Amino acid sequence: MLQLHSVTKRYGSLIALDGISLSVARGEFFGLLGPNGAGKSTTMSLIAGLNAPDAGTLTLDGEPLTAARSQARLALGLVPQHIALYPDLTAVENLRIFGELYGLRGADLRARIDEALAAVQLADRAREPVKRFSGGMQRRLNLVAALLHRPKLLLCDEPTVGIDPQSRNAIFEYLERRNREGLTIIYSTHYMEEATRLCSRIGIIDHGKLHALGTLDELLTRLPFDEEVRFPATPGTAAFAAQLDAHGELATAGGAHRFRPRPGFKLSAFYALAESHSLAPHLFTQQRPTLEAVFLHLTGRSLRDA
Ligand code: ADP
Repeated sequence: MLQLHSVTKRYGSLIALDGISLSVARGEFFGLLGPNGAGKSTTMSLIAGLNAPDAGTLTLDGEPLTAARSQARLALGLVPQHIALYPDLTAVENLRIFGELYGLRGADLRARIDEALAAVQLADRAREPVKRFSGGMQRRLNLVAALLHRPKLLLCDEPTVGIDPQSRNAIFEYLERRNREGLTIIYSTHYMEEATRLCSRIGIIDHGKLHALGTLDELLTRLPFDEEVRFPATPGTAAFAAQLDAHGELATAGGAHRFRPRPGFKLSAFYALAESHSLAPHLFTQQRPTLEAVFLHLTGRSLRDA
């Protein structure tokens, strides 16, 4: 459905996007995961046509996606990172403005507004000024405002920053339902748990480059180590643990050993060694690597406060 080919975007001397290529298929829930300043919003703004790339191409259903092509813009909805609502106007009035921008009018628009407010549990607050809404309520309204014109591709740019868990969950459930109904979604976030829960495929972006792209399972295989294994630190396991030092990284805390095999040291060899020490398999728990470990491995540990 959507293709980015070698897309580059500069702000003066800063290269915000450095030759990004990716494609998103119809019906996908695609995650763009990266730390602050990685280039997520820039990517979204280029797809939404708010900005033009310095190099590279973007296509939607094979058609070039440029700011001038209003037909393609109609197929897109953007939930911006910063809430874009008129605080003195009511929820209904805000939605009417968004609908009218897309040429919606009359009974059809009224029906869509009612449906939208009900979908995010705001029907009973429809006629209140938005400035009285909590952050979570504003976020939910911001979300449905982007969907009134029934786009086929929804861009969500960090849509849950700074909201309570209930609103966050309501947004997740709403997006998951719309995705099941066929809406294609591109979702940017720096929260691993959001990408893990929501996204069928994830691109990890940092410093304007795409560092990895795949399903969660595919990304987890990007770690240079196999799964971590934990087992009790007891006199019975001491001799075995001493031998493991040669095969990987062993850490001990709280009465337990944590072992990460060195690349090439297979877990089958680990269990064979355990057996030679008469240690039964049930002593060991295998810990799956997390997306967070992959993320930190690929993007490093330096802070991004800028
Ligand atoms: P993210 O959404 O991942 O936090 P952004 O796409 O907003 O990242 O920003 C990528 C880089 O581009 C950052 O270094 C940011 O400071 C810079 N940047 C973004 N927008 C502008 C702009 N309008 N002018 C100058 N620099 C910008």
